[in-house]
Amino acid sequence: MLGLLAFSQQMDATWLTGRGVESLWLLSSLLMVSLAANHFQLSLLLRLYRQATHDPLTGLFNRGALEVHLTKIQAWQRETQGQAEAGAVPCSLLMFDLDNFKLINDTHGHSVGDTVLCRFAEVLIGQTRKHDCTARYGGEEFVVLLVGSGTARAVEVAERIRVAVENHAFYSRDSQRIPVTSSIGVTRLCEDEPPQEALKRADEALYRAKHAGRNRVELIDAPCA
Ligand code: GH3
Ligand code: MG
Ligand code: MG
Repeated sequence: MLGLLAFSQQMDATWLTGRGVESLWLLSSLLMVSLAANHFQLSLLLRLYRQATHDPLTGLFNRGALEVHLTKIQAWQRETQGQAEAGAVPCSLLMFDLDNFKLINDTHGHSVGDTVLCRFAEVLIGQTRKHDCTARYGGEEFVVLLVGSGTARAVEVAERIRVAVENHAFYSRDSQRIPVTSSIGVTRLCEDEPPQEALKRADEALYRAKHAGRNRVELIDAPCA
């Protein structure tokens, strides 16, 4: 637009005259205002999107975003099922719950509990790949979707994360080491079931891990159609 205005001013000989400079200044100001307004709207939209899909404490996906992601991954699994001889790409869910977390809050305070949740989220991110999906499912419960991993591999990964959490140095405010462990339920994500079904199975496996003594991995497999 500025170019067009400059061209038309060249044609009617008002280029660099008082009137011409005034028109250029006016158009530039309008452009700046419109850019600023667009930028503001865009950043507001991005902020709203982030608030709707992410957990504010850990920065991980929230439960709603996880469920949407699971549905998309299942659609992709169904697409690949027809293309490859081996069938749909296998995917697995790991559901984590921190052991005796209430005791950490009660002993060290809620803000130290919050810090433990953030460090735990970092361990999960560090132990998974970029294309896996890590979400905070609830208070001290987390879910990891392993894309391309069957249940045998998922149990290996869950065990590796369990050991990493157990060995990770979590600290209190006065630099005392806080022992933290997690129980983990593992299941397969079938391509043709409601995502809530798979999450329910992972939760049942987690319940078994709690009842078997905590700080352990339990698997409930599912025969996908
Ligand atoms: P279990 O091994 O059976 O899982 O025991 P637990 O103590 O971890 O489980 P329980 O359900 O009794 O307690 C969970 C605690 O997690 C209680 C709740 O206050 C705490 N919690 C939930 N969300 C947050 C949070 O965002 N920050 C902090 N600091 N604590 C939280
Ligand atoms: Mg717990
Ligand atoms: Mg819990």
